[in-house]
Parts: sequence; C-alpha cells; structure tokens
Amino acid sequence: MEERTLYFPRPRKEKRILWILLALALLAAAAWFVLFRVNRFTLSIHLTGEETVQLEYGQAYEEPGAEVILTGTLFWKKGITLQDAQLQIDSGVREDTLGRYPVFYSAGCYGLRAEAGRTVRIIDTVCPVITLAEGGSLAPGGSFQEPGFTATDNYDGDITDRVVRTETAGLVTYAVVDSSGNPCYVEREIPIYDPVPPEIYLEGGEYYAITTGSFYTEPGYWATDNIGGDLTGKVTVEGEVNWLEPGTYPITYTVTDEYNNVTVVTRQVEVSAKPRPQTVWPQGKTIYLTFDDGPGPYTQKLLDVLDSYGVKATFFVTDTGYNEVMKEIVDRGHSIGIHTVTHNYREIYASPEAFFADLHKMQDIIYENTGIRTTLMRFPGGSSNTVSRATYEGLMSILSEAVQNAGFQYFDWNVDSNDAGGARKAETVFNNVVDGVGQTGISLVLQHDIHAYSVEAVEDIIVWGLNNGYTFQPLTESSPGFHHGVNN
Ligand code: ZN
Repeated sequence: MEERTLYFPRPRKEKRILWILLALALLAAAAWFVLFRVNRFTLSIHLTGEETVQLEYGQAYEEPGAEVILTGTLFWKKGITLQDAQLQIDSGVREDTLGRYPVFYSAGCYGLRAEAGRTVRIIDTVCPVITLAEGGSLAPGGSFQEPGFTATDNYDGDITDRVVRTETAGLVTYAVVDSSGNPCYVEREIPIYDPVPPEIYLEGGEYYAITTGSFYTEPGYWATDNIGGDLTGKVTVEGEVNWLEPGTYPITYTVTDEYNNVTVVTRQVEVSAKPRPQTVWPQGKTIYLTFDDGPGPYTQKLLDVLDSYGVKATFFVTDTGYNEVMKEIVDRGHSIGIHTVTHNYREIYASPEAFFADLHKMQDIIYENTGIRTTLMRFPGGSSNTVSRATYEGLMSILSEAVQNAGFQYFDWNVDSNDAGGARKAETVFNNVVDGVGQTGISLVLQHDIHAYSVEAVEDIIVWGLNNGYTFQPLTESSPGFHHGVNN
C-alpha cells in the first residue's frame, strides 16, 4: 500500500507547472491579441504650417518641417510623437522659376508607413515698371517726337517690346502686362507747341509825360496770352521815375508765358520841366508889398487901405478860415500866391512828397475860392530856411529847383519888416521897411497881415513910398524872385 502512495505525488506536481505555463501562454496571446489586433496602430505625418505655401518670386523657401505621429484605436488614441522616426522630406521646389511644386514627406516605423504632401507655389504679383525718357519735342505744327521709354519686370526682365503705345490728342499712353498678368500703365502729356509770346498793353501808352512835381503813379497795364489768358498778375515792373528831376525814365514790363515766351515792353516816362518865365525887372524905384500867413481878421482893413491909395500888393495865403477873403484879394486886383495849408514845418518839410502834397492842396484851395490857379508861391520860412534840415537833409536844394521845374515861381524877399520877429509895433515895422527900402532901388518887402501892428504900418509905408518916388507893384510870374541862398 505504501508503495502506491509513493508513486502518485510526482505526476501531480509537473502537471501544475504545465497548467501555469499554459495559462501564461494564453495570457500573452490575449495581450498580443488585444494590443495588436483589437487596438490597431496607425502612423501619420502632421505638416507644420500650411498645406499650400505661396512664395513671392525672389523669396527663399524655408522648409517648415513635419511631425510623425503614432496613434492607436484603444491605446494612444491621442497619438504620440515619434522623435526618432525616420522622416524623409523630398522637395522639388525651384525658387528661380514660377510654378507649383510638390514636397513629399514619408516615414516608417514598426512596420508601419506614412506619407504626406505639401504644395509650394512660386508666384509673381509685382507689376512691371515703365520709365519714360524726358523731353519730347513737338515739331512746329507737326507730330510729337517720342523721346523713348523702357519697360522692365522683376521676373520677365526687359519687356519694352511688349508695351502698347497709344497716341491721342494731347496724350500718349503706355501699357504693358507681365507674364503673370500684372499690369503697368503710364501717361505722358504731349507738350503744346506755342511760339506766340504774350502781349502787354500799356494804359497811357509807351510814351508818358508828366510835369516835374506831379506824382508819378503807374498808369496801368495788362497782359494776355494766347494760351495762358490773363497774365497781368505775372507782369514784373522795373524802373523808377524821379518825379522831382526832369528826364526820361524807362519803365520795363516783363511777362513770360508757361512756354517760356518772354515779352518785354518799355514805357518811356518823360518828366518835363516847365519853361521858366523870363524875369522882367521893373523900371524905376519899385516896392513889392507882400503879406504872408493870411487872410486874417485885419486883411479886410488892409485891402481898404491899399484901395484908398490905388496900391496893389501880393498875398501868400494859407488855409486860415478866412478863405472867403481870398476872392476879395483877387477881385480888388491884388496878386495871390500859395504859402502853405498847415504852416507846420515838421509836416510840410518831412519829404519832397509831403511838400508837394501841401503845395498842390493849397493851390486847389485858392482855385476853389478864387477861380485862379496861381503859380506864385513862397516857402514857409523862405527858401533860406534851416528848419527843414531837421526833417530832411538837402530838402530846400531839391525843392527850390523842383518847384520852378513844376511851373511855380517862388519869391523870397530883400526887405524884412521883422513883424514876425522883434518888431511888435507899427512904428518899428515902418522903420524896418523904410530902412530896407532905402538901401535898394527895387524892394520885395515881407510882412504878415495876421498882425494888427503890421497892417497898421502899411498906410505910412505907402505914403512914404509915394512921397519918395516909388511905385507899388503886385508880383507876377515874371517879377524878380529875390531868391535867398539855400541853406539846406
Ligand atoms: Zn509864413
């Protein structure tokens, strides 16, 4: 019985190992089945960047690369990147030629394979450039002489021969398209052939005359052009007229039209001097009584005194507010002359312009009151005055000549009653005049009828003069002027 118990345990132990091995094999088979049959692996290539890449001609192609991904249906569903997978890139890109090029990607791993493709397009969107040569003349009445043009393209190179040139009235158009269809269009204006210069018309004519002492103001002009129309605003005027100095002064007017036709016209402005009257010296002993600065409150009385002796005198008047007396001076046969409107030295001696403005104005005032346009005048302070030095150096030298060239006769004096100075009584005025007259055969006496004492002395002066064989005369254009030496 014991022998039987020894015999049975051994086969039982071996059998258990077998069972274990069998179970392990079954387990491995199941695992393999699940992993490689139930869970199926796939290999794929994911491109980095776009599937189609567009490159402007001239740009370099830079390979963006790709990833190799292993994906399972049960495990690694999201996929894992295989870093050591053998990715092969096959690029057919030719950067120097426009076109569509494929790039192939392939990879292999664990017996799996994957492939992908990308398209690279080399394109040209840059327009060609047309360059026009400068110039281009137009033959008189003829056609436009094309100065030339070129067309170049970044890809096609020189495409001048493909340019379509069209000439219409006043315009040339140039158009070209490169091999990629990029256009270029330019225009050129055909210059107008204009040989006709503009015209300048001078108001007042090419010869224009003024008298010395009359202000010169531009008489006016206008310019027209066959194409540009009114070019008056483009006229430049050069030259200056010295209205104080007799002479001929050219003034040039220049205008240029837009086709460079230049027109120059000249106006000759003649500043003429009026002829000076011949001085006629009176016969015999003569006294010219002259009264400045009036009319005034005593002038009426003075006129009566003069009338009662039949004596004629001369009045150098100002704008005093007694202007109605001017008419009476003239009506009673006396001479009337210009003194000044304002008697303001700083104003009237500020410049030649200021002086002549005052002179002409006073001449007008006298004319308005008397109907006489007198040319007799006396400078305030006389031509020898030095007050004008403060305002205008050399003014009296200019004015003493200019007023005569302007047709005025100026009168100074050789006997000063001094009624504007120290003499404040009729007796003194009388004595001063008689003393002065006694020293000369022909006297030009200075008095002021705005002073009562001076007017008061007149009757005695007349009586004395008549008793001593003098004749009293009014001044005329040909009377002697007794001009002082000019001090400024
Ligand atoms: Zn005065």
